[in-house]
Amino acid sequence: MKLYSTYYQGDLKQENQEEILDEVTEIDLVVNLKLREDVLIEKCLGRRVCSECGKGFNVASIDAKAENGLPGMIMPPLLPPQHCASKLVTRADDTEPVVKERLRVYKEKSQPVEDYYRKQGRLMEFDLPGGIPESWPKLLEILNLDDHHHKKSAAA
Ligand SMILES: [Zn+2]
Repeated sequence: MKLYSTYYQGDLKQENQEEILDEVTEIDLVVNLKLREDVLIEKCLGRRVCSECGKGFNVASIDAKAENGLPGMIMPPLLPPQHCASKLVTRADDTEPVVKERLRVYKEKSQPVEDYYRKQGRLMEFDLPGGIPESWPKLLEILNLDDHHHKKSAAA
């Protein structure tokens, strides 16, 4: 099964990207990875880069309660080792207005792609329960139980 996943920080730069994707590869299922927007913004604002070695870290410690139908979420910070800690800088474009604008543009561009695959029944929405360690096992579990997957497997 071939998968294509979208992500809020992914870049969808071209128009009609979904058609281009269909031309270059056969896509069975598109997984739309979704993250709570408040958590996403907090995480983006927590990004730091070591000015010496260039490694990326994240100082945001997420402990969001479940509310208004949104899933609760825990994402520990990705803290730097001691020799990087004093050299951390924030990227100039990791400010709240810039992050929010990036999100707005992303939504605008990803909407047609989502709609395209949704109409064909090839879009699966997946609410990320946390970081990769928490999300990956759940994603695999859902994919195994997914009807679409069984149908495709049976046909293969
Ligand atoms: Zn460093």
